[in-house]
Amino acid sequence: MSDDLTQRLQFCKTLPSLPAIAVKIIDLANDPDVDINKACEYISLDPALAAKILKTANSPLYKTRRAVDNIRQAINVLGTHAVIVTALSFSLANSLMKQPNQANNTFNSNAFWRRSVASALACRALGEKLGLKNPDDLFLAGLLQDIGILALSALVPEDYGPVFASTIDHDTLVINERAAFGRGHDEIGYALLKQWHLPAYISTSCLVSHEEPASKEMRPAIHACVAVSGHIADYFLCPGERGRIKAVTKAAESWLDLDSSGLVDVIDIMKIGVVTIEDLFEITIHHPSEITGILAEAKELLTIQTLSRVRELEEKSQRDSLTGANNRGHFDAVLQREFDLSTRNATPLTVAMIDLDHFKIINDTHGHVVGDELLIATVRAIHAQIRQDDTLSRYGGEEFALILPGSTSATSRNILSRLKDSVTAISQKLEDNRTVSVTISIGVVTNMNGSTCFESAEDLLKAADLALYAAKHAGRDQIAVWDESLPIT
Ligand code: GH3
Ligand code: MG
Ligand code: MG
Repeated sequence: MSDDLTQRLQFCKTLPSLPAIAVKIIDLANDPDVDINKACEYISLDPALAAKILKTANSPLYKTRRAVDNIRQAINVLGTHAVIVTALSFSLANSLMKQPNQANNTFNSNAFWRRSVASALACRALGEKLGLKNPDDLFLAGLLQDIGILALSALVPEDYGPVFASTIDHDTLVINERAAFGRGHDEIGYALLKQWHLPAYISTSCLVSHEEPASKEMRPAIHACVAVSGHIADYFLCPGERGRIKAVTKAAESWLDLDSSGLVDVIDIMKIGVVTIEDLFEITIHHPSEITGILAEAKELLTIQTLSRVRELEEKSQRDSLTGANNRGHFDAVLQREFDLSTRNATPLTVAMIDLDHFKIINDTHGHVVGDELLIATVRAIHAQIRQDDTLSRYGGEEFALILPGSTSATSRNILSRLKDSVTAISQKLEDNRTVSVTISIGVVTNMNGSTCFESAEDLLKAADLALYAAKHAGRDQIAVWDESLPIT
């Protein structure tokens, strides 16, 4: 059945033939040297169409300052191309929407047109956001991207209804269509638009709307906008369905490099046009009160997504990639902040330097991979012993720094002692099932502890380092507390 489907399009009696006016307007759209008088004449032949063009020109879709009262003025203000393409959108939608529904066809034409008009609105808004030249081309391409669904429902009415009705997800619909009929609505739509002689950029965007995004240089912006607009429409129509907003952000990012905050702008643009578009196409996408709520919720979801993305990136940039501990840059910032607080409020602040003993030998004996695993296990063991307010950072290769705000010398000794035991208790499995463990040396100092108060965060750190050196010197595997006998200068 598959290969002759496109040929059968030509003779399909249940598909409406294009009205004469639409055929004329298509001719105009394909003519690079279009005659303005001819455009005015054709459009004016259909008073309902002309009225819609004027309504569009005076709507918030265009920020025209003066009222437009005839087609010639509309052409002067909006440009010939925009007027012709807008006329094409109206005349095609108008004739196709009136297609009678076959009695035994479960295809839901209202759902189809709601999605098409919502896609068109989204596609136009995307074009506006991206500063593309002809937003009306985008509107038309968005509107017609799924015209193949109409064609399939006319070609194989009895079989298509159930396939359409049982598929919730639009991308799955194409897969199911190909399985059932050998062709998807993307290909059938392309064939139909070509048969109607629509400009190639419109028919091709219908064909590629379900493809994987091509590389940025290869993909015309209009195709990418059409592909993304379908996902926006799906969210808009069924905002409560799980995964919809994710599908929108994924499509926008992979096709258009547009992030969540860019999508928020697109939604704002859609909001301006939605009532006008519903009115012009004589279709209700949602009740007006619902639309405000849906768009507000979408904005909120996208804003949350942006914020959590920013937070994720911030988090990533302050983490050491091997162990997940904070990195040196983050440590320096936290130390300075905590030192200032400690000094200003006279509250204790403990800093400990932790260094793995004879780590070079472990690496040399068991290899770097085992060394890495031990570093990861060490960080995990330390994290299990400290509080949320404490900050563990990887200071250097196998050296860690710990900031314990509010901990006195006495309390920090307990914490560090437990921490040392838990690192010593690590037993890292080797390939031959033997295990390896490690000891640590710790140097510790507390600011604002009794009479001890340091002049700067650097001095405090230097004191912790001196104490660590003392612990190493005294034989390793121990905690040394800084005192006056270890002069900083
Ligand atoms: P000490 O007890 O005096 O601290 O002896 P040590 O061998 O631990 O100290 P040394 O400074 O001589 O050597 C540190 C070793 O830590 C050498 C280096 O290869 C290893 N190291 C540093 N960073 C990493 C890392 O990311 N992964 C692994 N596997 N080893 C690392
Ligand atoms: Mg589609
Ligand atoms: Mg070491």
